[in-house]
Amino acid sequence: MEHLDALRAVVGAAQVLTGADAQGYEVDWRERYRGRALAVVRPAHVDEVAAVVRYCAQAGLPVIPQGGNTGLCGGATPDDSGRAVIVSLQRLNQIRHIDTDNDTMDVEAGCILQSVQQAARDAGRLFPLSLAAEGSCTIGGNLATNAGGTQVLRYGNMRELTLGLEVVTAQGDIWHGLRGLRKDNTGYDLRDLYIGSEGTLGIITAATLKLHPLPVARCTALLALDSIASAIAVLGRARAGLGPSLTGFELMAGNCLQAVVRCFPQQRLPFDGPSADLPWYALLEISDSESEAHARERFEVVVGDALEAGEVQDAVIAESMAQSHALWHLRESIPLAEKEMGKSIKHDVSIPVSRMAEFVEHTNVALQAAFPGIVNVIFGHLGDGNLHYNVARGTDWAEGALLARQDDVYALVHDRVHAVGGSISAEHGVGQLKRDALPLYKDPVEMALMRRIKGALDPDGVMNPGKVLVV
Ligand code: FAD
Repeated sequence: MEHLDALRAVVGAAQVLTGADAQGYEVDWRERYRGRALAVVRPAHVDEVAAVVRYCAQAGLPVIPQGGNTGLCGGATPDDSGRAVIVSLQRLNQIRHIDTDNDTMDVEAGCILQSVQQAARDAGRLFPLSLAAEGSCTIGGNLATNAGGTQVLRYGNMRELTLGLEVVTAQGDIWHGLRGLRKDNTGYDLRDLYIGSEGTLGIITAATLKLHPLPVARCTALLALDSIASAIAVLGRARAGLGPSLTGFELMAGNCLQAVVRCFPQQRLPFDGPSADLPWYALLEISDSESEAHARERFEVVVGDALEAGEVQDAVIAESMAQSHALWHLRESIPLAEKEMGKSIKHDVSIPVSRMAEFVEHTNVALQAAFPGIVNVIFGHLGDGNLHYNVARGTDWAEGALLARQDDVYALVHDRVHAVGGSISAEHGVGQLKRDALPLYKDPVEMALMRRIKGALDPDGVMNPGKVLVV
């Protein structure tokens, strides 16, 4: 009671949630992790965030930052001790400033990604980060997980889109680091330490983001392919032919798209006959500074050459923005269709593009040998070498039975990822999901340095304990 009263004194009684009001914050998006918090606290200002963290640090209460709670690694979910304070950043949702001369915007951590994209568009600029959870994820969560998404190929991930940060440290101090500078060599880069730290070093309360010119037109094409090797050949061809205009290159296994049209019958695949039943599809996007007609013409050249070379079996180039959106919608619906199909074992891995085909082929075979009847559900951002290599139970496994073997599945897949020089977390982060796997694959010196950084910035282990690292 004493703790709750102290927190109420900082943010107001209505913004300290407990019991049933807190439940939605205590479970992750995939419903894989469920915990119990002392309270959910909803500050509206950086000073309130700092005061909450100061109180928790003094009282020895763990602090868990939370944004939109769309993370896929259990990073924002408390343990079941009932001691942690979830600090929801949702009320820090102001766009503080847009500077079109400097091509930057200062936004608070609780801003929903989609509202930041819209504010940039209203100012005649592009904020390019784009992902299927953009209607609910927040800028703070995007920064804390260094989110990637579908435009990384051209614009980079969240780290590349950020110039400055405002952070509440683990001691409850405020670091005013909102700088709109492209060049700033004044010592250690604290910004890059906090980006991707998943709430384990401090709470990000605001950021200075980079803006880009708005493309005049966009065009999308869906290609039907017989193999990953063909997809990689087309990626090389598209990069050479389209240069920086190529803003997206997504790979999807045929069964992913079939799951989407099954779960969401209002959507349809724009192919008939054998082209509707191929093992792979690629979604390409071009951003053009002239016109839609120009974008289409450029696509027609590249796609035409790829068809002629036998790299592509069939292709649809969108005739309109509406058709472009419909094609993107197919891609963005895959995680939702997966969720409808039940729990699967997910891997968000990074592989050198040159070893992607070998990785998929060998890992599929090894998984079938070890877990006969499982179904691979594979999609991802091929242009970035990032695959969501997921394993579903199909009809041969009971849900609980495959999940009970989850650690064996992870070990098999992650060993293969490591063997081809990849990373076991490409864009989703570590959270609690991959915490114990991390030391198996990361350089021991790198792990030791990470622990020392955690010890230096959060010596009392207040910030999001049990996530990313065991200290
Ligand atoms: P949360 O889930 O609330 O938190 C995530 C982590 O960040 C936690 O560790 C939390 O403690 C920490 N955190 C949150 N806010 C702060 C803060 N202000 N300061 C410090 N730490 C903080 N991710 C991708 O990268 N690419 C994708 O393409 C992609 N697609 C997705 C599709 C779907 C359908 C879903 C559900 C998720 C997807 N994700 C993707 C994952 C997720 O949306 C992103 O990781 C997103 O960036 C998380 O933002 P959030 O606000 O929901 O963070």
